[in-house]
Amino acid sequence: MLGLYFDGTLRLKDDLPMPEPGPGEALIKVIAAGICHTDLEIVRGYMDYEGILGHEFVGVVERADDPFWVGKRVVGEINCPCYSCELCVEGKHHHCPNRTILGMKGRQGAFAEYITLPLANLHVVPDALPRYAAVFVEPLAACFRILEQVHIKPDMSVAVLGDGKLGLLAAQVMRLPGCNLLAVGKHDHKLHILDRMGIRTTKESELSGNECFDVVVECTGRPEGFELARRLVRPSGVIVQKSTYVGQVDVDISSLVVDEVTVVGSRCGPFEPAIKALVRGLVNVQDLIDRRFQLEMGLQAFEYASKEGSLKVILETRSFPSEGLSYAGELGDQPVV
Ligand SMILES: [Zn+2]
Ligand SMILES: [Zn+2]
Repeated sequence: MLGLYFDGTLRLKDDLPMPEPGPGEALIKVIAAGICHTDLEIVRGYMDYEGILGHEFVGVVERADDPFWVGKRVVGEINCPCYSCELCVEGKHHHCPNRTILGMKGRQGAFAEYITLPLANLHVVPDALPRYAAVFVEPLAACFRILEQVHIKPDMSVAVLGDGKLGLLAAQVMRLPGCNLLAVGKHDHKLHILDRMGIRTTKESELSGNECFDVVVECTGRPEGFELARRLVRPSGVIVQKSTYVGQVDVDISSLVVDEVTVVGSRCGPFEPAIKALVRGLVNVQDLIDRRFQLEMGLQAFEYASKEGSLKVILETRSFPSEGLSYAGELGDQPVV
């Protein structure tokens, strides 16, 4: 099987073993998979992972004990808990210490022709959702996690820091409760995606220093992002930390204590609201697609995705030919969702 394998060096291998589904698991043929900031960080040493990368995917179930699933187009939650430890029994299975994580910990990822996942992790992709939109379900779900964790009221002021792939999705999700929203970034071409949707944006370099927000969502993907979030959050406000990276952050803990700032770590989220938001066209992902590559071109795809200013790079498997579209630029004005 063909796949992108990381063992300290990222390699394209064509002799990887086919994954074998365990009891209650599905064998899924991957159609397309998105390269995430986390994948780039893993290649820099984050998570200390060795194996096939990739956790944002859409695929078709080829084999499963339950015939309902066979032939279904699916996306999948990436955490595979044990369902028997104390945390799992408490319902906190996203934090199961025994869990495997697709493409990150103990489970081969989706930059390959096939993966396995428990049926309990799968969600059927509605026919109305094109494959390239479906690739965004996982990162979009992670943004809906914020709404599960923090009650955003319409009269609140919220800043989203970072105009990368996650920041652009998070800003669109934070818009849904109707709060007073500002997206802060560095790249004109990325902020314009939000401008066009009527979301207020500013360049980081143009902040006056007097801004103050009830909630700051940190999606910069850089350790410096936390410092900026700290500067922008008002006393008794909330910092939602989405970025993960290899580096460490220097935090002035005392200032968090004195200002009674709440810091909320925020990871994976619910798939169903993400799927609904995409189907209803509440979130624009078309403009976030930068380039698409065949899996065979995986190393070039990673190189492209690592470039400053790039947006979502999608890998697709050859047996699912593209829907007559090769690159995002050729999608024209037709909305993907
Ligand atoms: Zn991701
Ligand atoms: Zn468990």
